[in-house]
Amino acid sequence: MKLFLNNKDTIDFNEQYDQWIFDLDNTIYDFNLGLFSRVSSRMTEYIKDFFDLNEVDALTLQRNMYKKYGLTLRGLMIEKKIDPEPFLEFVHDVDFSELDEDITLKTLLGKIKGKKSIYTNATFKHAKNILRSMGIFEEFEIIFDIKDANYIAKPDLNSYLMMKKKLGLNDSNISKSIFFEDTAKNLKPASELGMSTAWIENDFNRKEADSLREYINFTGSDIKSILSNMLEFEKR
Ligand SMILES: [Mg+2]
Repeated sequence: MKLFLNNKDTIDFNEQYDQWIFDLDNTIYDFNLGLFSRVSSRMTEYIKDFFDLNEVDALTLQRNMYKKYGLTLRGLMIEKKIDPEPFLEFVHDVDFSELDEDITLKTLLGKIKGKKSIYTNATFKHAKNILRSMGIFEEFEIIFDIKDANYIAKPDLNSYLMMKKKLGLNDSNISKSIFFEDTAKNLKPASELGMSTAWIENDFNRKEADSLREYINFTGSDIKSILSNMLEFEKR
């Protein structure tokens, strides 16, 4: 794992990578905004109403489905046969008002010469709402969402294979791609497929990453610091 201490001027990352792929939630925006925890609470609320459960049982079901399938919705579809559309519509109906336009991030993304995409377990609509609020929607060429992945979520390998196809990644060019994620276990299949990986670290995801260090190439506390380390260097 590289920590970007003294290597700033050693690599031209724009030459190194043709495809820059970003997770959305807690990667593109700061974990500390708490936006994703609101989506998660909406899931609990939906499960509670839909299955007529109390809060504790709803939360238990939600956690079990997440643990077993990597995505709560995936588990609910397989084990409880729920319809994904109304679920997704409900859970992503959260307030984005504190997501401001992010000029710094926009500038950094603008320095990337390769193709930029979003790879998310959420919906296109949710991604669009977030990216629009931040003023960076136009920066991305492709948004690969949970519907594109037939509701098969990261870290299931099949999700990555579908993403690869959509983005035009193959055995000859995959080593020129890099994937940014806050959920370390989602970097493992990407790394095994030959992508470089960057992990966005926060106080809550650190423990999970302990056993996954070998699949992480770069790390930083937020997307902007990682990108600025990669892109804002003086050329030798
Ligand atoms: Mg995430």
